[in-house]
Amino acid sequence: MRTPSPALRLEEQYGAKNYHPLPVVLVRGEGVWVWDDQGNRYLDMLSAYSALNQGHRHPKIIRALKDQADRITLTSRAFCNDQLGRFYEKLAQLTGKDMILPMNTGAEAVETAIKAVRRWAYDVKGVPDGQAEIIVCQGNFHGRTTTVVSFSSDPEYQRGFGPLTPGFKVIPYGDITALRQAITPNTAAFLVEPIQGEAGIVIPPDGYLQQAYDLCRDHRVLFVADEIQTGLGRTGRMFACDWEGVKPDVYILGKALGGGVFPVSAVAASQEVLGVFEPGSHGSTFGGNPLACAVAIAALEVIEEEDLPGRSRRLGESFLQRLRTLHSPVIREIRGRGLFIGIELHTKARPYCERLMKEGLLCKETHEHTIRFAPPLVIDEETLDWAFERIQRVLNEA
Ligand code: PLP
Repeated sequence: MRTPSPALRLEEQYGAKNYHPLPVVLVRGEGVWVWDDQGNRYLDMLSAYSALNQGHRHPKIIRALKDQADRITLTSRAFCNDQLGRFYEKLAQLTGKDMILPMNTGAEAVETAIKAVRRWAYDVKGVPDGQAEIIVCQGNFHGRTTTVVSFSSDPEYQRGFGPLTPGFKVIPYGDITALRQAITPNTAAFLVEPIQGEAGIVIPPDGYLQQAYDLCRDHRVLFVADEIQTGLGRTGRMFACDWEGVKPDVYILGKALGGGVFPVSAVAASQEVLGVFEPGSHGSTFGGNPLACAVAIAALEVIEEEDLPGRSRRLGESFLQRLRTLHSPVIREIRGRGLFIGIELHTKARPYCERLMKEGLLCKETHEHTIRFAPPLVIDEETLDWAFERIQRVLNEA
């Protein structure tokens, strides 16, 4: 019989109940594996919602963290530091953009992009003041701040949090006609996830991103890709937009940018877009701190040096193929690109995640019916075989 963990009891007693975690208390992580306070080992198939693409405690990233911690950790942007410029250069080269604005969490970077595109609409495009519109998609997930939940299509994300921020139009995801009809002369931007992660790994029809990008370009609307979850190798390309050869006007990045050790997010865009900010118009005490920058540089180097996008593509393809051989009656659909995979069930997914946990595999349901599999991209074939056996056992018991 499992002894109740004091750590779990304290979380239960004092914590706001805005999460419903699986009852496992993790105390150590290495690569794709984590251990609980009872000494049990688990395969991490969630990767902190894709923030751990490089695996737990990647030695190069931890070294960068420690080295920088021994020098200087925080300067604020009141002063310059010797890591920020290096981080800018690295991310600018990776995204092909000429300007970067660093923040900490994903939602902050989304907020930053919203401010940038609105100001761009007024100052550059000439939209009348206060009239800028941003088009977003049904099923979107871009974070939890008040403005960001204002354009969620999930009523539970908004209930009791109003008054909400106006200026957003919600259209069906993957529907190019709806986008065409929604654009007006006041449209500043189309904000889109190239694959909707939290909605349950929802992949738009082939060609959608390219068509949406072309439509935006033709109407002088900024194409803003939220690649916070899909970017940095997760889907088998550096960015999920690469699958359709689309270079967004604005990239929003986070999660794996911090290498699983530190919150780091950023917006990457042209001088025309990010140039709208001047001193005083935007900022963050911690954004661009030298510790975050040193970590992010190492995090990006690991993604490149270990070809994590290529790994994700190769391993994801074969894992997806194997998953498609499962014939459990509870499976409704299996979707995925690279190691970004969702199994949608006819029934609630949580009991299956609980059973998988007992088998030593950690994953989490998203939107009740979908199990998301997104292991660290440093995983190997043998470990995926190990995972497959357990998934097969649990789903076949159904
Ligand atoms: N955008 C997308 C696509 C996400 O998946 C997430 C987090 O899951 C966010 C934004 C918000 O990021 P954060 O939780 O770091 O604020």
